Amino acid sequence: MSKYAEVILPVPLNRYFTYSIPCSLEHLVMPGVRLYVPFGKTRRLTAITVKTHDEKPSGYSVREILGVLDEVHPSLLPQQMKLFRWISDYCLCSPGDVMKAALPSGLRPDNSPSGHSFKPKTELFVRPGHNLIIKGRIDPDSLFGNRAKARKELFCKYLELSGADINPESPGQVSRQSLAAFCKSPSVLQALIDEGILECYEAETGRLKPFTGKKRSPHALSQVQQEAIDGIRNSFASRNVCLLHGITSCGKTEIYIHLIKEQIDKGRQVLYLLPEIALTTQIMLRLQSVFGDDMTVYHSRCPDNVRAEIWNRQTGPEPYKLVLGARSAVMLPFSNLGLVIVDEEHEPSFKQEDPAPRYHGRNTAIILADICHAKTLLGSATPSFESYFNALAGKYGMVTVSRRFRETTLPAPLIVDVAEMKRKKYMNGILSPQLNEKISEALGNGKQVILFQNRRGYSQTVECPDCGWVQKCDRCDVSLTFHKDSGMAVCHYCGRRYRIPVSCPSCGGKSIRGRGYGTERIEETIKDLFPKARTARLDLDSAKTGYETILSDFQNGRTDILVGTQMISKGLDFENVSVVGILQADSIMSYPDFRATERAYQLIMQVAGRAGRKESGAVVVIQTRQPEARILKMLSFGDWKSYFTEQMTERRLFNYPPYSRLVSVILKSTSIDRVEKASVAMAEKLSGLFGRETVLGPDAPQISRIQSRHIRTILVKNPIETPVRYTRALLLQAAREMEEEERLNGVTLSFDADPQ
Ligand code: ADP
Ligand code: ZN
Ligand code: ZN
Repeated sequence: MSKYAEVILPVPLNRYFTYSIPCSLEHLVMPGVRLYVPFGKTRRLTAITVKTHDEKPSGYSVREILGVLDEVHPSLLPQQMKLFRWISDYCLCSPGDVMKAALPSGLRPDNSPSGHSFKPKTELFVRPGHNLIIKGRIDPDSLFGNRAKARKELFCKYLELSGADINPESPGQVSRQSLAAFCKSPSVLQALIDEGILECYEAETGRLKPFTGKKRSPHALSQVQQEAIDGIRNSFASRNVCLLHGITSCGKTEIYIHLIKEQIDKGRQVLYLLPEIALTTQIMLRLQSVFGDDMTVYHSRCPDNVRAEIWNRQTGPEPYKLVLGARSAVMLPFSNLGLVIVDEEHEPSFKQEDPAPRYHGRNTAIILADICHAKTLLGSATPSFESYFNALAGKYGMVTVSRRFRETTLPAPLIVDVAEMKRKKYMNGILSPQLNEKISEALGNGKQVILFQNRRGYSQTVECPDCGWVQKCDRCDVSLTFHKDSGMAVCHYCGRRYRIPVSCPSCGGKSIRGRGYGTERIEETIKDLFPKARTARLDLDSAKTGYETILSDFQNGRTDILVGTQMISKGLDFENVSVVGILQADSIMSYPDFRATERAYQLIMQVAGRAGRKESGAVVVIQTRQPEARILKMLSFGDWKSYFTEQMTERRLFNYPPYSRLVSVILKSTSIDRVEKASVAMAEKLSGLFGRETVLGPDAPQISRIQSRHIRTILVKNPIETPVRYTRALLLQAAREMEEEERLNGVTLSFDADPQ
């Protein structure tokens, strides 16, 4: 038996910790088991055992484990321990950061006196009193005779619900509450219990509601879909990852359903990842109608105790066969994973930005699948250039579907030159006459309309027209957005809200006003222009009061026009939309980033993809000041490859991914002086280690201060051939030296691998 345990603690230190194992606990401590340990003077923390051994650590006195939290089986599987290790290595963060991101907080009861916080939910149930079963059967007539009609009725109801009338030895569970629903007065049930005919007992139940709908079998596939699925299977025979490049509405989800069923029939599990929680409901309903209670949904906004319950079930004897989730679901235990599906794989929101671990859900999923000897299917109508590059290079398999399931055509693009329309004074606020006409036409035909704007709020800035003063956040280097709902100016980076000054702080002018259009203002304009249409809005603000209702109202035709941000661009399946308007395409075409055009292309194609799913003839109206932009000429599924090839030439020339690998080094401090000194020192150090041409910066990012902290970044750009391990070792060395030389006082240093 081993005497020491090496553990992960939820602290941002880049190492494992060692504790001694008391004899009484020796048999329980093994890799993946959660422990309870002392830390510092007074703290007690949850730890995860990495390994056990007999070598007494030297140089410090080892403290003893206080308790073991997993007495039946480990809460973490060996595959997960491997994955966690990969994440902390690749993302350059501490193992503790990964642990904190992965474990629901109910499973890491830090500082609680007993070390227990997640409590399984229990409920009261009823069963026949033990003297009741006579010769293997229950006879209500002999029990009640002709008296006590209400009691007899209720008892018979119990027999029916539990199946005890047929199978008295092992009746099914009936909760007290569900039985109580059948009696006219609570005293009837109480009387049965008092007489010992029924008895009450407490048992564990789930927090998750069981699926009560009707299950169906998967739809029969069309020939095109069948060919695609054969292609995917074929590709899996020789490769671990396959890219399904399928036009919007070609029936990718239906293909997934067939592949999932195949895995489940083989006794293996499937993880289905989506980039956005707002998307899960629609897909969940579709999957649930086939997989019922075999599946669950897991993401960071599920209540913590639900997440803990799902986690526990995953390590138990009957784990879920299908988990639908956002990126954090890759951290869940899977004992027998067969397939991971990453839908909308191109979505930047698969990447976690803050806090650490800054992991990419798609890339992590591919690693998880490898560790579990499972396959990964990446699906998209607009693949990320990285994945497409890997597919062309033969690293991934690829299957292309270029026909929509209902054989409808993609919406035709109609490009409107906003500058020209303005000059001619044809613009009605933000609406061009062309878009206006298309909307009226659609409404007249009983069709629906989606209007996309990249900015929430009412107006984009608050300005003084006399002197050009712009209202900014005190803590962040950004201008504020006016929200009419609340009458306040809001910082979209830190959430702080401000009153709007009556007179200009700079010139005293009295005409301060909002400028530009956010979704709120567009909604208002549309309501004015189309008073008969029912208009709704979906963005981060309106989603707070329930995006599900907003989406289902639109889906079921209770609203006609939906105004929204990115949230409406992805994966949603609406049948009746014939017009999509992109109001300010320029705002998405002009990010100062090497991925700008890739992103703009994806966004426009995705938003457009919401239209014409059931009938041909839909249009996507793109309002822009750059009608000649190259990307707008390439808006068809077939042009994808030539556009990609063009972009790749540029990336190769400037040595951007996928021809190089980037790590961004981020320094933050409340003192601008300190952050500047530290970032210059760090850049010099890195140049010394990697060579000058590999290190760019330090630079102040576009938004150089957030929540009162000044930010500087250094970009390390290594050729793709450079081993990841080598890069990581040098980066960590530089960080260590900075620490030792005390150049980081008051400055935090972090890394972002593959910044998006
Ligand atoms: P994608 O995920 O590629 O955008 P979907 O899977 O949402 O496409 O399919 C588009 C529409 O076609 C959906 O309404 C879906 O129910 C329907 N559909 C797709 N495949 C089939 C099929 N084999 N049988 C019946 N309906 C299908
Ligand atoms: Zn002014
Ligand atoms: Zn702010």
